[in-house]
Amino acid sequence: MDLFYIFEIGIHNAMKNTFLTLAMLGNFLLMSLHAQDFKVNINKLTEQTQKLSESPDKMCLVWWIPIEFWETIFDQDQSIDKKQSDDILMAFSQYSMFVIIDGTILEDGNITYKSRDKTFENLVLTDVSKKKYAPLLEDEIDDKTKELIITMKPILGNTLGKIGENMHFFLFQKKGNPLDPIINAKGKENFTVTVNKEDFIWSLPLGALLKPKKCPEDGAQVDGSWSFCPYHGKKLVADN
Ligand SMILES: [Zn+2]
Repeated sequence: MDLFYIFEIGIHNAMKNTFLTLAMLGNFLLMSLHAQDFKVNINKLTEQTQKLSESPDKMCLVWWIPIEFWETIFDQDQSIDKKQSDDILMAFSQYSMFVIIDGTILEDGNITYKSRDKTFENLVLTDVSKKKYAPLLEDEIDDKTKELIITMKPILGNTLGKIGENMHFFLFQKKGNPLDPIINAKGKENFTVTVNKEDFIWSLPLGALLKPKKCPEDGAQVDGSWSFCPYHGKKLVADN
């Protein structure tokens, strides 16, 4: 499995939820993966990491790609070269990674997209302690990571056409302390991404990364980040 293919899986799965009508080419893989003691559902994870603008005249997608997303993809296919996937994980784990498409729907139905620079200027990440981060400049990102991101570009261009061309990557990092991540997908610290004054808020932890719980009333399996069943109001229990 080569690098292009690995990225295609991730991108296809991600785009599936949002742009299904575009009938993305290729097969979408329904992947249910092993991570620790339960299977992480990559589609659920993708859904929980993507947010769309609430504004009816906007075509704005913010996709947070936590390191667990890549881990999940690499875990499920043993044909992926271990050394290669470890290199990718090591490179990406230094950053909080986002893909953003920022478009405005015109009156004639066409969409006009903001350039990477324009989005960059109007992008802020705010952590749980209200500390604000600007995206990293090109020269603040290591060469290996830049190379990996460049690898994704032709795939985006080829498979997603106009939308792919308008998908941009942005990375964040605590300056001077890259090993201390701004966001922990399994933690409790919420965060906000602001794109052109619109806030996209994530509540953590991501349920897709937690072992599902069970409702004592009917035994239904529910999101691991919940405490109570939304239907019966019962306190959820561990699902063994
Ligand atoms: Zn219930």
